[in-house]
Amino acid sequence: MINGKPLRTRPDMAGALNPRWARDGRIAIGQQFGSWTVLSAELLVRNAALYVMARCACGLEREANLRFMETGRSVQCKACATRQRHAKQAHFAVTTAAHRRVQKRVNAWFQRCNNPKDRSYKNYGGRGIECRFASVREAADWVLAHLPHPTYLALDLDRINNDGHYEPGNVRLVTRKANLANRRLSASTTCKTAGPVTGSPPTG
Ligand SMILES: [Zn+2]
Repeated sequence: MINGKPLRTRPDMAGALNPRWARDGRIAIGQQFGSWTVLSAELLVRNAALYVMARCACGLEREANLRFMETGRSVQCKACATRQRHAKQAHFAVTTAAHRRVQKRVNAWFQRCNNPKDRSYKNYGGRGIECRFASVREAADWVLAHLPHPTYLALDLDRINNDGHYEPGNVRLVTRKANLANRRLSASTTCKTAGPVTGSPPTG
């Protein structure tokens, strides 16, 4: 006793488990927590927490935090958790660099048509332009199938009819250069305070 309070000792230092951790053999070999199966009823103290040896459904065996398993915070090993998270984001499952470029551009279609916070929304979604593909993945698959290109480097995916939607048949591949020239032209015709875009004055 110190100052009338019971002396608290760290269980790992005292060589015995803290009474509040006493479990009365409630952990049994073969007990299941999600994908975890308890392999040993022996309680291990690691970093002042209780662990037991357990096996994940994938076969990985490791010391698992008992309290996390009991409260549902730990249901599987880290590799399985990562695999599950990636499966949920399957529309971002990318196989090649070319595929990634297509995916990024297609994702931008959805953003500028559907997300009012996108900086280009007023020129797309705000004008009633829709992205009529069911998902980013479906749109990317359509582009890869119908507008094949080995790398998609320095290429943009452009709408054929500027007032049309992003939909099958209204998308084409153009060089980035042509697309930028196109944009600059349209910007100078609509901007009220249009000045020379480049430093040099018009020659013709
Ligand atoms: Zn696992």
